[in-house]
Amino acid sequence: MSIFQVLRGEWGLTRDAEFRRDPWYIISGNAVLDSGFGSPPKEFFRKTLPPGVVVPGFVNAHSHIELSCLRGKIPPGTSLVGMGRLLQAERGKISSHVIRQAAVAAIREANAEGTFFFCDICNSSDFLLFLRDQPFFRGNRYLELLGFSSPADQKRIEVARALLDRDDTFYPTVHSVYGSSPLQMRFVREKARHTSVSIHLLESPEEIEFQYGRGPIVEFLQELGQYTRHKELYGQSAVEYLHSLGMLSFKKLLLVHLSAARSEDIDLLSEYVPHAAWVLCYRSNRYLGIERSNWESLHHAPLRMLIGTDSLASNSDLSVLRELEALLALDRFSPRELLRAATWDAYEYLEIKDNAIPYFLFPGAAPELPSLCRVRRAVPLSHFC
Ligand SMILES: [Zn+2]
Repeated sequence: MSIFQVLRGEWGLTRDAEFRRDPWYIISGNAVLDSGFGSPPKEFFRKTLPPGVVVPGFVNAHSHIELSCLRGKIPPGTSLVGMGRLLQAERGKISSHVIRQAAVAAIREANAEGTFFFCDICNSSDFLLFLRDQPFFRGNRYLELLGFSSPADQKRIEVARALLDRDDTFYPTVHSVYGSSPLQMRFVREKARHTSVSIHLLESPEEIEFQYGRGPIVEFLQELGQYTRHKELYGQSAVEYLHSLGMLSFKKLLLVHLSAARSEDIDLLSEYVPHAAWVLCYRSNRYLGIERSNWESLHHAPLRMLIGTDSLASNSDLSVLRELEALLALDRFSPRELLRAATWDAYEYLEIKDNAIPYFLFPGAAPELPSLCRVRRAVPLSHFC
């Protein structure tokens, strides 16, 4: 028996995210070693796949798998701060067994619809290590340092420092401008500068007020006993603040949301970090009632758009396919742009190697995105070998 096999399909997706007839894939184990269209290399054993469309797996560029146990617990329309309050109230109440079971179920569900890679943010060290040891989890793991005031911020730094001694495969990151202190920003900058950082940025207009020391985020932090008027932060925009701390000088910068980014914020980002990615979590924003009016400016900005779901506290699943379905209905992006953002743009940005990308057959699907969304069942090609 040959260790290589050629699978021939009915329809496939090109690197430009166009559907084309007669794709072939050279498979070894779970890896696709080569692929193309038309006549496959002759020397391999060939097999024909059932009718349908083959696509490479989807990348979820922003999730919090740890929060999967909160599915259905936060009412739609809860504001960002309202969600912060509810998350705070739930913290510590749910057993680690329940958290882990819900996490595994959520990953499996997303896998079954073709999502194979996550940029996942966790808050607890235990969960970060749990995820590392799950054979079916693939992706980047970020540990977020939450804490806006001393000494809470310092304690989290110590936790991250100790964990880096045990596991050097995760990325320490900050939560947001309002969730992590300047001290934590400096720590992350020192530890992760040459790698990757993922930061929630301008998710809601409340963050604009926050920069000037007022509004619901300030009130929320005061309730928690966590508000400090950091002199580095006060009176300038969030983008200017991050820039002044060196928090924009990362090799891979995932700017999550930007829903409330004004044109001046987008102009500054385009100037300072044209190589950054912005991660759109459309269904989560919609769930929390966050409106966006900067579609056009972001569309024209050099920033690379990637797709995320955020957590199940504000979404129904972690499947990128369902995110694409919702975005398609919004009618602001072409199917091609959406498919690129979920596949090749993400592989390129996150440096996911070609032979690490699994391919999936959507049995019976027609060569168009709406049809993939209707079929939803993604069978890994390795299943046919
Ligand atoms: Zn998030």
